[in-house]
Amino acid sequence: MKSFVREVCHDFISLFYPRYCMACYEGLAKGEETICTRCMYELPRTHYHTEPANPLFRRLEGRLPLQYALSFLRFRQGGRVQRLLHNLKYYNHPEIGEMLGRVYGEELHRHYSQAFDLIIPIPLHPARLKKRGYNQSEEFARGLSKNLMVPMNPSIVERVIKTETQTRKSKLMRWQNVREVFEVKSTAAIAEKHILLADDVVTTGATIEACAQPLLQAGCASISVVSIAYSEQGKI
Ligand SMILES: [Zn+2]
Repeated sequence: MKSFVREVCHDFISLFYPRYCMACYEGLAKGEETICTRCMYELPRTHYHTEPANPLFRRLEGRLPLQYALSFLRFRQGGRVQRLLHNLKYYNHPEIGEMLGRVYGEELHRHYSQAFDLIIPIPLHPARLKKRGYNQSEEFARGLSKNLMVPMNPSIVERVIKTETQTRKSKLMRWQNVREVFEVKSTAAIAEKHILLADDVVTTGATIEACAQPLLQAGCASISVVSIAYSEQGKI
């Protein structure tokens, strides 16, 4: 009886608040959550986890001593992946990140469950985090952590804005150099650890590089990268 009441309530709520797929905007069937079965099946997977020297690895090669470069989906303008990322980042749908993390974590589990000690999401700047209410990369990392069975810690790295006033000959020639940097808050937590850095979408790889450098300097054993999507064109 209880489940009957629950189902009637569910149908009633769905009538006024239709649930729809975050990738194609078609209505979700019973039992479907966030992304419809068809989209889940047709999402453009990269299969990079079966190809060690994949395009993302090659993009970062030489800039970082990378162990693995993994990315779940191919980013295409106007496609389902762009819609998912857009809804995840700008329309208050953190559940998209968590779900994609769980699905990818399941796909990676067989080959990679022993490869990493710790997942670290690329942090947002605190002001942006406050405005958005969540970090989309952290949501993705949370889902990954569940099915990959590797712990996730979002408090180890912080994103800060550094303002450096540089003085030359005269006051007139003084200028301010503002740049965003990543700082490792706990060196002990990453020492000798195989780290998996999680990002939402990788384009040029500059953010990954900036976040990985202080971790390497602080003494982690290795750095790998995982993202929801990768844009081979280097733009989104
Ligand atoms: Zn769909």
